[in-house]
Amino acid sequence: MSDTGADDIRWMRHALRIARKGGAAEGGAPIGCVIVRGGVVLGEGYNEVDRRRDPTAHSEIVAMRRAGQHLNTGEFRGATLYSTLQPCGMCSMASIWAKISRIVYGAGRGDVHEMYFEDRHMNTIDFIRDAYRDDLSLCGGVLAAECAALYVPRGADIPLDLQFNR
Ligand SMILES: [Zn+2]
Repeated sequence: MSDTGADDIRWMRHALRIARKGGAAEGGAPIGCVIVRGGVVLGEGYNEVDRRRDPTAHSEIVAMRRAGQHLNTGEFRGATLYSTLQPCGMCSMASIWAKISRIVYGAGRGDVHEMYFEDRHMNTIDFIRDAYRDDLSLCGGVLAAECAALYVPRGADIPLDLQFNR
């Protein structure tokens, strides 16, 4: 884990604003992501799975697609990805392939309901820890409580047919 700086707090607040926008949008969900390099936003977005009818339209993927269009490349070396929720396996893998240099998330797997994650036991953020790249760092728990407040809490009684991962 890396140290949390003032910039991390600032950009996580930005991601929180995007997440809240997503929560209020038709077909959106309150998970926000912003990709930043040198103090400049390369791409940002919220979860648009329902709106786009696209299971890959997680906030991180939406932000990466926008960054790719903006920069005209699929590689974002030197960039930091901020997400209000720990990235899932798909988004962790995509971040590795995108050559993102740093991943910072707010609420972690232990802070929210299990339905936000695809694997019962494997913590897919470990894909990042185990990546071949040695220029990739990870920092979790930035504004964790504020981020977690956007999600169904751990242990909440949600009927199985309403759980996203079933
Ligand atoms: Zn994801």
